Amino acid sequence: MCGIVGYLGDQQAYPILIKGLHRLEYRGYDSAGVSMISQSGELNVYKAKGKVVALEESVKNDDISGTIGIAHTRWATHGEPNATNAHPHYSQSKNLSLVHNGIIENYKTLRTELESRGYTFCSETDTEVLVQLVECMMDTHKSDLFTAVQFALKSVVGAYAIAILEKSNPDQLICARKGSPLIIGVGKNENGNAEYYLGSDATPIVEYTNQVIYLNDEEIAIMDRKGRLDIVNLQNVQQTPHLHTLQMNLDQLEKGGFPHFMLKEIWEQPNALRTCIRGRLNKEQKDVILSGIIDNKEKFKNCRRIIICACGTSWHSALIGKYFIEEACQIPVEVEYASEFRYRNPVIFEDDVVIAVSQSGETADTLAAIQLAKSKGAFLYGICNVIGSSIARATDSGTYLHVGAEIGVASTKAFTGQVITLSLLGLVIAKVRNTLSDDMYNMLVDELFMIPDKMQWTLENNKNIDEFAQKFTYCKNFIYLGRGYNYPVALEGALKLKEISYIHAEGYPAAEMKHGPIALIDEEMPVVVIAPRQGMYDKVVSNIQEIKSRNGKIISVVTEGDTIVKEMSDYSFVIPDTRDCFVPMLAVIPLQLLSYYVATAKGRNVDQPRNLAKSVTVE
Ligand code: GLU
Repeated sequence: MCGIVGYLGDQQAYPILIKGLHRLEYRGYDSAGVSMISQSGELNVYKAKGKVVALEESVKNDDISGTIGIAHTRWATHGEPNATNAHPHYSQSKNLSLVHNGIIENYKTLRTELESRGYTFCSETDTEVLVQLVECMMDTHKSDLFTAVQFALKSVVGAYAIAILEKSNPDQLICARKGSPLIIGVGKNENGNAEYYLGSDATPIVEYTNQVIYLNDEEIAIMDRKGRLDIVNLQNVQQTPHLHTLQMNLDQLEKGGFPHFMLKEIWEQPNALRTCIRGRLNKEQKDVILSGIIDNKEKFKNCRRIIICACGTSWHSALIGKYFIEEACQIPVEVEYASEFRYRNPVIFEDDVVIAVSQSGETADTLAAIQLAKSKGAFLYGICNVIGSSIARATDSGTYLHVGAEIGVASTKAFTGQVITLSLLGLVIAKVRNTLSDDMYNMLVDELFMIPDKMQWTLENNKNIDEFAQKFTYCKNFIYLGRGYNYPVALEGALKLKEISYIHAEGYPAAEMKHGPIALIDEEMPVVVIAPRQGMYDKVVSNIQEIKSRNGKIISVVTEGDTIVKEMSDYSFVIPDTRDCFVPMLAVIPLQLLSYYVATAKGRNVDQPRNLAKSVTVE
């Protein structure tokens, strides 16, 4: 959560910072701010409540000169989202300004201590403590900024990515991280002079350079105009910076003619999944290659069980993965909310494989969950989309989704990308453990290969959802039902609707209805039922009857050619036939579109829904 941008070079910093903030706005949009050292040597800070455009509006008459700067878009944790609590924060003397992503857990103790030394605070944030502490360290130890940052961070408990400017030193930029992501982009201008970019992810950087360094936990970097780039850890040990080449292109960061990133990303799914399986799923040779598993064959062959840790939408894809891996590989699989797992002293064996599923690869709870599993000796496997992310680096092995940058806050292509990746994983593990017959294996490979085309069909044959969605904007509640592989799809459909339309929605296993929720059914209640021909069709038909008898409105997802459920429904979305284990990747598409169109009909900002942020880097 929250986005940090930084720049040091020959160009004017402000346009680069603002463009970067727009790119990172999906991470938080409570307030935004910039700080630059102007041509005349002033350390300016400008902040505004709300989105980045509000900031742009507010600085129209201000001095936005300067070739060094830092910027921030906030997802508030401490203190309400107003201009005072917005970042950057000044130090007492206004010689320093600082932006921060994360939470300083001992901020109260530090603040009291600093107050007793005469420091006064303007904001309610935990962040302001950091900048004051650094200044206090500079004064106490008569040290330079870099050394003071080192001192200060040693007494900090919590998570941070920070960037700092010093008025009296306009040629240097300092940043550090622990627990929150930070990337340094290394560029050169046309005169061959060094330029440095900072970003919470690569999106503000990719336009200028594809050479990046992923800062590690407890590392501090110092960059200057002469091309100095030194990375030192908190123990003052010099680190060797490793340059990586970004695999991202600018098209992924533009809407490409769609009104929202979410709709673009929904439509991108067939191609995104083709890219995900390319080179991994070989239809001719009936083979699935995931080097992350093959290189660690014995771990998967001999493991006692698999635990999948995830949050939100990733938890839903993990649940589908559990059903498939248990069925195909005959290994017990547990799916855990990372936020619960990490705090409840779970039983973890050394021969467990723990899989972390996270789009961003930065989800704080998931990262902590795997760190716990590591301490107990488990083998760690990461399934992430963002290359070089913290989870990707903290795990022993893993698989990237390769579905391209996902900008819409409500996850769509990352969800189906995770499901197909977990399906590949299940097939490879089944091969390693020899748990599927050749016929079944080959049939599943063939079927999985066709999923992207079938997704395309689904998108093209459900185009009128937008008109249909208008009828439901008045609704206060929705219920989503599914069984087996489609129960997690019901959960995901309900979550999508909740997060972007703010309509309350619940997902249930269809048969659980009669144990309580059926009491909610009346003529006002839309019930979305995932009822494909494969997988407990007759049972779901009975569940639909039970709802119809109580006058509920039925919206169904049915297989092409279905007549029975279609006739019972007030409205149906159609998907092509496939194996029950792969239905979720098709059935979720009309549900994504339904939530998108209900939300846009209600005038919601679907790419940036209230209170949410894309990459949950705080607990
Ligand atoms: N804890 C800080 C604040 O509330 C930073 C939050 C963020 O990461 O956006 O200002």
